[in-house]
Amino acid sequence: MASNPPSHDPSRRSFIRTSALVCASVWLPVFRVLPGTAMADTGGGGCPEPPNFPTGIAVFKQAYRNWSGEISIDAIWTATAATPQDVVTLANWAHANGWRIRPRGMAHNWSPITVDPDATCASPTLLVDTTTNLTAVSVDTAASPPTVTAQTGISMEAFHSALQAAGLGVTNCPAPGDLTLGGVLAIDGHGTSVPAVGELPMPGHTYGTISNLLRAVTAVVWDSDTQAYVLRTFQRSDPEMAALCVHLGRAFLVEATLQAGANTRLRCESFRTYSAADLFAAPGSGSTGKTFSDFLDESGRVETILFPFTDNPWLKVWTITPEPPLESREVSSPFNYPFSDSIPLEVSQLVAAITTGAVWLTPAFGAAQALAVDAGLTANQARDLWGWSKDLLLYIRPTTLRVTANGYAVSCRRADVQRVISEFHAKYIQLQQTYRDRGNYPMNSAVEIRVCGLDHPEDCLVPGAQVPLLSALRPWPQHPAWDTAVWFDILSIPGTPTANEYYTELEEWIYANYVGDYAGVRVEWSKGWAYTAAGGHTSDETLGVRIPASFSVGMAADADFRAAVDMLDRLDPFRIFSTRFLDRLMPRSADLNADGIVESGDLSNLLLDWGSPAGPADLNTDGSVNGGDIGEMLLRWGERA
Ligand SMILES: Cc1cc2nc3c(=O)[nH]c(=O)nc-3n(C[C@H](O)[C@H](O)[C@H](O)COP(=O)(O)OP(=O)(O)OC[C@H]3O[C@@H](n4cnc5c(N)ncnc54)[C@H](O)[C@@H]3O)c2cc1C
Repeated sequence: MASNPPSHDPSRRSFIRTSALVCASVWLPVFRVLPGTAMADTGGGGCPEPPNFPTGIAVFKQAYRNWSGEISIDAIWTATAATPQDVVTLANWAHANGWRIRPRGMAHNWSPITVDPDATCASPTLLVDTTTNLTAVSVDTAASPPTVTAQTGISMEAFHSALQAAGLGVTNCPAPGDLTLGGVLAIDGHGTSVPAVGELPMPGHTYGTISNLLRAVTAVVWDSDTQAYVLRTFQRSDPEMAALCVHLGRAFLVEATLQAGANTRLRCESFRTYSAADLFAAPGSGSTGKTFSDFLDESGRVETILFPFTDNPWLKVWTITPEPPLESREVSSPFNYPFSDSIPLEVSQLVAAITTGAVWLTPAFGAAQALAVDAGLTANQARDLWGWSKDLLLYIRPTTLRVTANGYAVSCRRADVQRVISEFHAKYIQLQQTYRDRGNYPMNSAVEIRVCGLDHPEDCLVPGAQVPLLSALRPWPQHPAWDTAVWFDILSIPGTPTANEYYTELEEWIYANYVGDYAGVRVEWSKGWAYTAAGGHTSDETLGVRIPASFSVGMAADADFRAAVDMLDRLDPFRIFSTRFLDRLMPRSADLNADGIVESGDLSNLLLDWGSPAGPADLNTDGSVNGGDIGEMLLRWGERA
């Protein structure tokens, strides 16, 4: 058994600090520090007010905290857009004043794509809350296929409810209800679904992401004729939609029209009796139990949640079932696993012990989480549920344990899904043991596995529909046989010692293992990736090489990663809808040298990143800076500093 780490261990200290912070904030909603009246505040403490702020738009300082608390900003200027036109006004204000605008939904994201973690209220960055007012929704059942048009701040629960009321639904979707449509579209939100054997696709549905249902969006974009940001509506067949379907927050969508299909009744069965050894067995290994692929073939919709150091995952299987089975309990609302949305006392005691250094309790924590599921499934009669799709597909509430997560999508042939999963599971078990042998327990929460079809644009019934260029489920032209993607997420309490080392090692293995004609890797934008010892989203190789390659190799030059970035730059040449991190992940073409690498001495970008000393007058229409202006800008920056 590992000994308790010495108290002077800095990694342990930071773990305790982080965990204390996370645990203390676990259940609290993000709070508003200075409501509405903050414009009267002089902004003491180094928080200058946004200059020349448009009248009539509410602005205040508010805390920002992402899901896991790993990005935690005490106060940052935030505005509430009452109408889409307010977003236009804010965009033009930002452009004129050297600020950046960040659309903010529920902040239930992990990757740093909303705001840079070191932002403060002194940063020239304005968050724009969409959730308060941009929530209108209407359904057109007369259209063929039927469509739903919604403003992007609507919650997914309200979005699905509107569909259900009109007899419509989707095949898969993210599990929480408290995400915004805008947030989900930005990162190719998804659930789990492939066609069961013999299942015919239903018109209006997709087995891919929610983004692949898009038929049109209205976004705030730069108009070179009027030299201003304006609202513009794009149809799915317009070239720009290739970049707007999934854009990571490099655009601001105010409204979206999605297609939908007939709603379905689903049965969701939960099992705790199938072993990981059987479910994740290697093909040809001689295992006689039912495998993950067997369940996929039968029902098409499968998820496993495996807690560390336990033998049997929580297996969920959804089956299209028009009539209520005798054994099922009928449900008429979502979130039917309340036990996974709150933590029993014994489990929270283990969390407290682990976060204060008793990492060797991780196996007990894994077992306790599994036991809590068993007890909860029984107490809530939740092992076999039946109802409308929304009520079975939404099942996570914001009170669930706030863990961090990595995320990858591995594309492959449907026939290789079992191999992909078995190799991942074998690696997981090997790493678990290797780290345990060293007295380390980097992963203390679940491994989640789901499987989707790809984002075939034909699913969207608009002739000439664009492929979502930046979707993790975008088809691979060089590998037409790849029709499926397996999503892997491993969860752990934020700040767990050796987690970064573990995530880095696993990421190296994933990119090395799923290669060639067999399989290909893309990151799950909303989660953790690009790991180094310094944490997620820090690896130059993954950010600068692997990610662009996964959207470029074998793809046409006018439809690759760079093409998507260039399109987004044309729509927002001044990059007012960006962050330093997004600039690094998606550099401008002008900043790339012949090798496609960003020059480290790119002064103009550096200057813009350092608090925008440049005003719009310093920028050319394409957002670049003339060399001759740089000396002048440096001088001004020096004066300000
Ligand atoms: C517990 C939990 C479970 C989850 N489960 C799933 C799941 O099952 N499947 C899945 O796919 N994802 C899942 N996610 C991830 C989630 O879908 C994404 O993180 C999503 O982006 C969060 O939406 P949000 O409204 O909180 O967006 P935010 O976190 O506020 O923003 C995320 C990104 O979207 C951008 N954005 C927000 N609104 C707009 C807009 N109007 N226009 C343009 N850009 C915008 C932001 O700028 C930012 O870049 C889960 C997250 C959590 C916390």
